Amino acid sequence: MSGREPDAEVLVVGAGPGGATLSYLLARSGVDVTLVERERTFEREFRGFGWSPGVIELFDRMDLLADLRELDHDVVTAGAGSLYGERVELFDVDSLDAEHPYIMMMEQPTLLELIVSRASEYDGFTFRPATTVTGLVAEREQVTGVEAHDRAADEDVTLRGRLVVGADGRYSRVRSAVGIDAGLFDPILDLVWFKLPVEDADPASDTQAHVARDGILVSFGTGGGEYQIGLPILAGTYPDLKRAGIGAFHDRVAAIAPELRPALEEHVSNYGDCSLLEVAPGIGPDWVRDGLLLLGDAAHVASPIGAQGNPLAVADAVAAHATITEALERSETPLPAGALARYETRRRPAVEETIGLQRRAERAMGLFLRYGHHVPPSLALRGAKAGAGLLSRSRLLRSGIERMALGAADEPVDTTRFVD
Ligand SMILES: Cc1cc2nc3c(=O)[nH]c(=O)nc-3n(C[C@H](O)[C@H](O)[C@H](O)COP(=O)(O)OP(=O)(O)OC[C@H]3O[C@@H](n4cnc5c(N)ncnc54)[C@H](O)[C@@H]3O)c2cc1C
Repeated sequence: MSGREPDAEVLVVGAGPGGATLSYLLARSGVDVTLVERERTFEREFRGFGWSPGVIELFDRMDLLADLRELDHDVVTAGAGSLYGERVELFDVDSLDAEHPYIMMMEQPTLLELIVSRASEYDGFTFRPATTVTGLVAEREQVTGVEAHDRAADEDVTLRGRLVVGADGRYSRVRSAVGIDAGLFDPILDLVWFKLPVEDADPASDTQAHVARDGILVSFGTGGGEYQIGLPILAGTYPDLKRAGIGAFHDRVAAIAPELRPALEEHVSNYGDCSLLEVAPGIGPDWVRDGLLLLGDAAHVASPIGAQGNPLAVADAVAAHATITEALERSETPLPAGALARYETRRRPAVEETIGLQRRAERAMGLFLRYGHHVPPSLALRGAKAGAGLLSRSRLLRSGIERMALGAADEPVDTTRFVD
């Protein structure tokens, strides 16, 4: 490094679930860590708020769970769907062999605020909100820092570290600045999201998925008095929907769940009340370079299907913590890719498995959106019932669901590094 002392040993870019968790773990392990976040507050719109049993187990091992339980949240132990008006049981978390056999529905802002405030208890931790990373500093092909704009002070800053961690999400600036491709798969679906107050959102309250001749709706309690409802559409068709006006959107949702029409008309009055999520997942080809490590959506964009983005990001952070603390001890400055490789070798198979399962589900949904309306409802219902029966008996399918629910818990938290 060019003679100048690093501003921190580790610079983490992005205070999402991955970056916040890693910063807490490093700070608690006595590492000097600076967390740089573009937003001024944690009030980021439309982020995942489903926390699987596996990730709850990780929070427990990190001593965060007791505090998280004090925050507003809902607990879900089973899921049901409505198939052509018939109720079908989809999953039963209660029956899993898990330490915490439930899903927590919790908005990200309060959760992230809590994790960052727990990190702030350690002297080595610095949080820089309202600071946007614009590029990387590199010397002899090694990443040695970031260029950023601090909006609070209205000044450009250069921050140096022995390691830069790109945890800045699906459109990662860190990833693109180092020239790593996002590895996106061909898109099949997009999702249009909106929120309705719990008291107006019946029947979303009773089921997590509505499948009808005219389409699919998915819905979840946010733990904050609202339901978040998603309408899957074929990838790239949102501009057509918008052109048809908000009335056409109301008609499309109400064709699937007619009971939602009054709430929709009251609370979704234009497309500004909706949010488009491009589902297209991806897996980047490299997650480590000299002086650089990518994690969470920056390394592998998760699709929202099966609520796997948060568990993957938090499990990445846990694995990265173990690798980084060891590399800081053993390696010279900045940390070479070879000393970081263990993190990627460990996490890549788990990520590929999860994203593979999500892709299968996306393909099935895409086929349904394209051709479902050609299938007579009575035949579709018979098929759905047979499928539900198969699901409860199939060990393969059941193990897929178990992997989704529990996979994150495979990562051991290296608590031997903790200073308290
Ligand atoms: C609508 C929706 C619903 C979802 N539902 C679920 C769900 O229920 N369960 C689930 O597990 N997953 C869900 N996901 C996916 C999940 O939210 C993500 O996979 C997860 O948030 C990824 O975490 P992360 O820490 O990698 O990145 P992010 O959460 O995306 O955080 C990245 C952070 O980096 C910051 N940042 C970006 N660029 C810069 C920059 N240049 N400089 C500084 N900071 C920057 C951002 O402001 C952000 O705070 C959903 C996603 C969406 C969009």
